[in-house]
Amino acid sequence: EATVRLLAAGEVIDSPAAVVRELVENSLDAGADRIRVGLWPELWRVQIQDNGFGIEASELAMAAHAHATSKLRTLSDLWQLRTLGFRGEGLHSIAVVAQLEIVSATGASPTALRARYDHTGALQSLEAVAGAPGTVVTASELFDEQPVRRRFLADHKAQARLVAQLLQRYALAHPGHLFELAHDGRKVLQLPPAANLKQRILQILTQYDEHDLREVTLAHQSRSVRLVMGLPDRCSRARADWLQIYVNRRFVRHSELEQAVRTGFERTLRRGRHPLCIVQLELPAEEVDWNRHPAKLEVQLAATPQVAALVIAAIAEGLRHFAP
Ligand code: ADP
Ligand code: MG
Repeated sequence: EATVRLLAAGEVIDSPAAVVRELVENSLDAGADRIRVGLWPELWRVQIQDNGFGIEASELAMAAHAHATSKLRTLSDLWQLRTLGFRGEGLHSIAVVAQLEIVSATGASPTALRARYDHTGALQSLEAVAGAPGTVVTASELFDEQPVRRRFLADHKAQARLVAQLLQRYALAHPGHLFELAHDGRKVLQLPPAANLKQRILQILTQYDEHDLREVTLAHQSRSVRLVMGLPDRCSRARADWLQIYVNRRFVRHSELEQAVRTGFERTLRRGRHPLCIVQLELPAEEVDWNRHPAKLEVQLAATPQVAALVIAAIAEGLRHFAP
């Protein structure tokens, strides 16, 4: 029973970055626009603080139970997914592999509540504490009972890099939100609210300035694309990981669309250079099939050729702006 639970949880939570993924997505689902992540790799500790709508006492008690979710009310919700989480696995899986503590206050209550959970996800203690509206989730002693997993994740610097990369993706998907990352208490990523995607990219890629980038938006029927692309001559420094596709505010890997971006740049980019291009698509929910494993980034689109054509047209438009 305990072993089965550990195996299942380990599939969802396989690294510190997976904890960050689940908790940041919960914060976004809670309407937060200020999200601060603390990482103490050597202590196997991760903390996320948000200013979202908080968790009520009755829900807090149940929050880490298997399949506890407030997000899926009807079966048809499954096909119209707006929230990032929906399976009620996140907090439960974290509780199984770590010491889970949640401090949360809703706007309605004057004090916060602190809840602690055991490794089955059952509530261990609940007490009133001081705290601002919002939620602070702390996972510590991560993988304490999984020495093999810990050995596999022994490179703390690599873990921290993955967390930073993940957070940058959420920050690009939500340019108007504040995101921060602290590593052992030291701020390593500080992204205040940006006016738009282009400004957000400039916060992250500090070697670029305004004139190196173009923002293009294009819509056709019910599909729209917003992309920010680098001036071809300035793309040399951009590594391959700055070709990014987002669908309905989620980072995804989609080889056909990535190829469409390369095609769009083909004639203008010199050999060996990688396009800098952040592509954000808004597509009707019924055209998007999310692969439902939380860790998987693949997505299936009903209209890939049309979307690819839209992307290529947007890049062509952006390149016209660069013309001397
Ligand atoms: P899911 O996200 O799939 O619903 P989780 O286990 O990740 O499942 O979270 C369980 C529930 O706890 C959520 O449905 C939500 O009601 C509540 N919750 C979790 N994190 C937060 C948060 N940061 N702010 C508000 N509510 C939260
Ligand atoms: Mg969740």
